[in-house]
Amino acid sequence: MKKQIKIAAISAAGALCVGNAVRAALYRPKKEKLSPLPEERVDLDRYIETLREAIRCRTVSNPDEELVDWNEFEKLHRVFEERYPLLHEKLSKQPVGRAGIIFTWQGSDPSLKPIALLGHQDVVPVPKEKLPDWLHPPFDGDLADGFLWGRGTTDMKNHVVGVLESVETLLEDGFEPRRTVLICLGYNEEVVGAEASSATLISEVLKNNGVELESVLDEGGAILDLDIPHVMHNKLAGVGIAEKGYCDFEISVEAKGGHSSAPPKHSAVGELSKAIVALENHQFHARITPELKNIIDTAARNTELPLRLAGSHLPILLPLLKPVMTQIPPVASLMRTTTAVTMTHGSPQANVLPQKASATVNFRIMPGSSIAEVERHIRRVLKNKNVNVRLLGGDEPSAVSPTDTPSMRAISRICRGMFDMSAPVPFVVMGGTDARYYQSITDCIYRFSPFVMPPEILMLAHGTNERIAVDSLANGIVFFKRYIKTMAGDEA
Ligand SMILES: [Zn+2]
Repeated sequence: MKKQIKIAAISAAGALCVGNAVRAALYRPKKEKLSPLPEERVDLDRYIETLREAIRCRTVSNPDEELVDWNEFEKLHRVFEERYPLLHEKLSKQPVGRAGIIFTWQGSDPSLKPIALLGHQDVVPVPKEKLPDWLHPPFDGDLADGFLWGRGTTDMKNHVVGVLESVETLLEDGFEPRRTVLICLGYNEEVVGAEASSATLISEVLKNNGVELESVLDEGGAILDLDIPHVMHNKLAGVGIAEKGYCDFEISVEAKGGHSSAPPKHSAVGELSKAIVALENHQFHARITPELKNIIDTAARNTELPLRLAGSHLPILLPLLKPVMTQIPPVASLMRTTTAVTMTHGSPQANVLPQKASATVNFRIMPGSSIAEVERHIRRVLKNKNVNVRLLGGDEPSAVSPTDTPSMRAISRICRGMFDMSAPVPFVVMGGTDARYYQSITDCIYRFSPFVMPPEILMLAHGTNERIAVDSLANGIVFFKRYIKTMAGDEA
């Protein structure tokens, strides 16, 4: 009898092993054989030289428009004019606001809705104290060690110049669009809470002209080159189909104040602290969204064997992993509206009790939720009537763009044709982009920059030593040319 049990146990274990091996073998990146797309001509030298000149234009935006050096934007426009004469001859150019531009490449079929390629010309400043840390000056456009260095090389002059370069090359190739192609370039995307966002101005011009767009392509996603020993050696692309909302609330407590020598048990700061702790302890509900599930599934399919075996059991594992995932801040931020207490104010002097203590709390709102819902949450958590809650400002989360559309299919087809990789995964962008201001003229907004980047280079945007690998540049042009041809060519 014992022997029989042993044999049964061994067979069961064997079957389980075989089952798991089969499972892991079948659990692979979803790829299909694709017919190759025609080769695209790329004038890499011109693109690199133009990008270098663009980097040398210090187009730094500022919340106060009077502090912006608009000459630098004019200088950038002159670079575009000198480098891309055909584009300036064949496309119409409409200036918008202080330095915005709408280029219109008229298509032959007016029944087709135009596509728009967006970009911002501005960059974030380089703090003076960080200058010595730059291995190459941020506004010189140096080429060294296989990289092009400088502010804007990844965010996002590479993309803006890439679009213009691609159009110039398509014009030289004799391409004539059936569908109208718009290039919309803003100038203050990097300014949070700009008085007049250039993207709003541009989208209003289009709306007033009765334009309805087929789709918008802007920054936000990229092609990640992941090389983690024993885990993954693959490219994964993400296309932003929505972006989180943003709002700041002030919570405050008022008190009598007075001399600090005779304090109450809790001063206004003490009372406020209780409210802060309550907010931090009552986080928003976390959810594994379909987009997150798809991201994890695609990533897991691309891992190497031991991990891939675990990945093949994702439907069972994910609910178990959820509590762990909410403990990892970058992952948790994909699962819920986040709460960040960022500023506090109390008494103006050390020996004076505060008459008012206040804190600013920043929330990044999940698509589907709203600023009103954040306010309800705060009031529910802070049952204490002595705490005042005041909305300082914010932006609602964007709508979620559909994924079964011609533009999304084009992005996916072109990426898979260029690299042996899984289809790009849709995701929710954490920061804001100009694209959300186009929601009134299209439902199809995709945030994707077609440049291959390892995560450590991607992280340098807005930071010190921002740079881009020279060998990632040509594919950007190939992508934009193919995207325009697919969306605006004969098959459009
Ligand atoms: Zn940007």
